[in-house]
Amino acid sequence: MSRPTRALIDLDALRHNYKLAQSLAPASKTMPMVKANAYGHGAVAVAEALADSAPAFGVACIEEALQLRAAGIKQPILLLEGIFDESEIKLAARHNFWLMVENQRQQDAIIGADLSHPVSVWLGVDSGMHRLGFQPGEVAAVYQALRGSRNVNRQIVIASHFACADNLASTATEKQIALFDQVAPRDSECLHSLANSAAILGWPQAQRDWQRPGYMLYGASPFAEPQINADQLKPVMHFESAVISLRTVAAGESVGYTANWTAERNSRIATITVGYGDGYPRQAPNGTPVLVNGVRCPLVGRVSMDMITVDVSDLNNVTEVAIGDRALLWGPGLPVNEVAQHCGTIGYELLTRMPARVPRIIL
Ligand SMILES: *Cc1c(COP(=O)(O)O)cnc(C)c1O
Repeated sequence: MSRPTRALIDLDALRHNYKLAQSLAPASKTMPMVKANAYGHGAVAVAEALADSAPAFGVACIEEALQLRAAGIKQPILLLEGIFDESEIKLAARHNFWLMVENQRQQDAIIGADLSHPVSVWLGVDSGMHRLGFQPGEVAAVYQALRGSRNVNRQIVIASHFACADNLASTATEKQIALFDQVAPRDSECLHSLANSAAILGWPQAQRDWQRPGYMLYGASPFAEPQINADQLKPVMHFESAVISLRTVAAGESVGYTANWTAERNSRIATITVGYGDGYPRQAPNGTPVLVNGVRCPLVGRVSMDMITVDVSDLNNVTEVAIGDRALLWGPGLPVNEVAQHCGTIGYELLTRMPARVPRIIL
């Protein structure tokens, strides 16, 4: 016997979502973003599942890239923020990690490094997000400098990132694309990359040589509204647990820490063994849906470290709830986005911060 709290990982759903990304831009190469432990799903398992089809992977830092290499992943791996320290350049060249170059300091370090063989670089352009990247007016000179360096492989990818692609009504994405197209060099040896998940799904005009899907691969939509392509995604993680205790709480009695929920009627309360120590958000308010035996029931009372309490009174009229019955916190039938919305955050955060305590089980 063991604690029933776990994250089932559906790799068929992952591959389905990857194929969807590919099919939306068949002329582009599709680089899965597996940073932050593949958005909480397990970077090695995800990369292995896509290794037959993905030409490269994207991560946030060299430690994440080294973890994939140690697991036997052979593809090039792009470090999305480039290097943090000069000592990473040699390691990157040796392991075929691609380096984003997004500021002068990184550029100087790469050009000035003493390398026995060159690295591949992506030139990051700040087209409007104003977080990373060279200013549009600097791009031509940086490109020339990198092209002229013996430390840099000839094929350079010019890249930018969207700030508002998840908002299909915003004009910001088209402005970013226009600015990018104005300044990005075009020659036979340079490639372009713009699209994240939201752009792949909703902005066909952002298709370029490389696309960089993250969130959509895990089967969640970057949009708040239904969207024709996003609606075909299949959730990869089934975050589940089980009922471990049941009681009837009399009207007027409270449940849980701080007694923040009081029963208005005699209520059947199921205790489920999952809490904020497992990545279930403590800020989840009363009424946040939990699927018990496949039926939506409201969370009642504060989320504890290891447990939550759910009002199954209405469910109990349909089927008797018993200890051991399954509870789904998010997954098929209960999008992580919906839980996140109740909690004032986004599904990205809930997935990414799932702790190691929750075993990832490949379905
Ligand atoms: C994380 C990341 C992506 C993927 O974004 P999603 O919204 O998860 O698709 C793409 N590009 C860059 C540069 C990123 O850092």
